[in-house]
This record gives sequence, C-alpha cells and structure tokens, in this order.
Amino acid sequence: MTAISRPVDKIVEPQHVVEGAGVRLKRSIGTHSLDHLDPFLLLDNFGSNNPDDYVAGFPLHPHRGIETVTYMLTGVVNHKDTLGNSGSIGAGDIQWMTAGGGIMHEEMPQARPEGNFGFQLWVNLPARLKMSRPRYQDIRAGQIPEITTDSGARVKVIAGTAAGIAGPVTGIAADPVYLDVTVPAHSSFSHEIERGHTAFSYLFEGQARFGIDSTEARDAEAVRLVVWGDGDYIKVDTSASEARFLLISGKPLNEPIARYGPFVMNTRAEIEQALRDLREGTFVWSEQD
Ligand code: MN
Repeated sequence: MTAISRPVDKIVEPQHVVEGAGVRLKRSIGTHSLDHLDPFLLLDNFGSNNPDDYVAGFPLHPHRGIETVTYMLTGVVNHKDTLGNSGSIGAGDIQWMTAGGGIMHEEMPQARPEGNFGFQLWVNLPARLKMSRPRYQDIRAGQIPEITTDSGARVKVIAGTAAGIAGPVTGIAADPVYLDVTVPAHSSFSHEIERGHTAFSYLFEGQARFGIDSTEARDAEAVRLVVWGDGDYIKVDTSASEARFLLISGKPLNEPIARYGPFVMNTRAEIEQALRDLREGTFVWSEQD
C-alpha cells in the first residue's frame, strides 16, 4: 500500500487574547473559530520581552478532566498546587500535568531580561480517566533527546518517536507525538503519523511549504497553526528561510465535550458537579474519589 501524504486542511491565524490575571498571548485552538481539534482543546503561545505582558500570571485556579502541557522556550514559570507540588519550568523544560479529578494550582511567569516565551496545550482525557489521580511529568531540557534527520532537520523529541528515538513523556491516553522541529533553509522534514490521528504544526519562526504538490501544498509564514488532513505522513519544505514549528498529533477520543473554563468533562451535569465541589471545598482530588 502506498503511503499517503497528508494535505493541509486549514491554516489558522492565532488570535490575541488576555488570559489569567492579565497575560497577553496568542490562542489558536480553543477559540470561537476553532473550538478544539480532538483530543486537543487549547493551544496558547505566550511570548514577550515586556514583563507587563506576563508577570500577573495565572494565580490559583482549578482544572479537572484534562491535561495541561507547558513547554518553555525562554524564561521561567513557577508552579505550585494545593496538593503540595511545586517547582520551576525553565527554558527548554516541559511539564505534562494530568489534572485528572482535580487540582488547584498557580502558574506564575517570572520577570526575566530574556523575556518569557512558550506554549500551553490542553489535552483531553477520556471519560474513564477524567476523575483519575493527578500526575506530573516534569521533564528538564537535558532529558529531551535532540536528533538530526538525514535531511538536516533538528528535532527535539518530547513525546512519541522520531527516527527511532522516543521522547521522555510516557503513559498518556492520547498517544501523543510532541516534536519541536527546526528545518534549515533549503531543506525538508517528513514524519509518519498514524492514520486517523489528529495532527497540526504550529509554525512560530520562519516560513515553509506544508504538504507535497500533489496535495496542493500550502505556504505559511510564522505565526500560523497548520492543521493537517488525514494520511500517513506529513512533509515540510523550506526555501530561503529556516522554519521552526511544533508538530503535535494525538488519537481522537470521539467523546462528547462539555466545557466550562478550566473544566472539560463529558456532560453538563459533570460540569455542575465540578462547580458544586468548588463551592463546597471538595474539588481537589483525594483518595476516596
Ligand atoms: Mn492552569
């Protein structure tokens, strides 16, 4: 059987939003025009050299039913939750946080001369794991393998596998691939993605051509979300300029989505239960849940 190149389904311009206590960021999934890309519920890209754009941060807030994935390019975010977990996410680090049945946490970007640049992705949990025990995978930059492909692309493998090298994030229901890919000028990158899995590239530096000509390749310039259609692999080509993008894929859940701010459940009744638990002080996951 011949492997089929994925076409580009659409190219989305991120929207400017203000979130948390006043953090300016670019949102490309979780907007009015793109509610979700099953199993992905939100993609935010924060990036500023001006501390006024980010130091207000994200004071104490709840999550239930999802995973929040923070990947830092530059700067530091301090993290703390009411279960007693705390730490710093620094340049090149990733935190894959499974909120499960409930956490209350704060995420506070620190004012730094180098600024604060990175991403937060929300990954949905299947119904059977929505009330599971919270879990953290805190991965330091040095634990993330970086490979160079035969075509010259440099790939940081955060989750999934590239050129036979597996990333450090494991045991995630969505079976995700999360790669940070740099394609030098006049070069290319291709990657197999399981048929039927949702896939997108978030182009945040440079420009590139996405797809192959027989599938009507599309040119894009940073910053854009490129949503891939179905197929067996993706291909990206550069010409005069380098390109850097996240390549993210995952298995769709195909379950009903009931969404209210930081809670994503399957039914309205479960959202109402989350709000009731917050009011009654029983929100945070505990052993008897
Ligand atoms: Mn959060």
